[in-house]
Amino acid sequence: MPPGPESQRHPAQLDPHRPHLPRRPLWVCRVCPDMDWPCPPARLLLAVEYRRNLAGLAVYLGQQLAVAMEDLGRLDTGSPPNGNALYERFITWIERKREVPVGRPRGVDQGRVDPEPPEL
Ligand SMILES: [Zn+2]
Repeated sequence: MPPGPESQRHPAQLDPHRPHLPRRPLWVCRVCPDMDWPCPPARLLLAVEYRRNLAGLAVYLGQQLAVAMEDLGRLDTGSPPNGNALYERFITWIERKREVPVGRPRGVDQGRVDPEPPEL
């Protein structure tokens, strides 16, 4: 079987036939029932994909947030979309991710202990 485009498969798509993508214009997950996007699996998959580029993840989700604001604003719900809630939903979880070390530090000053000054 020759390697085709499938060899460049999205690392985040565990099941490429059921990707956790937003269903517009409601911005709910296409896979998870009644779950707003990005759902927890989508967040996990995005975090894996962007593990070395959290700034890129923030840019991507910022763009998605802008599109979602537009989509949701067009829906006839009687009230405009709550920007703060959407920001929480799209962006804030990345901040929490940043607190988790992404990889092992590369042995910089690990376990280095300065010698105690001799007692006089
Ligand atoms: Zn989902």
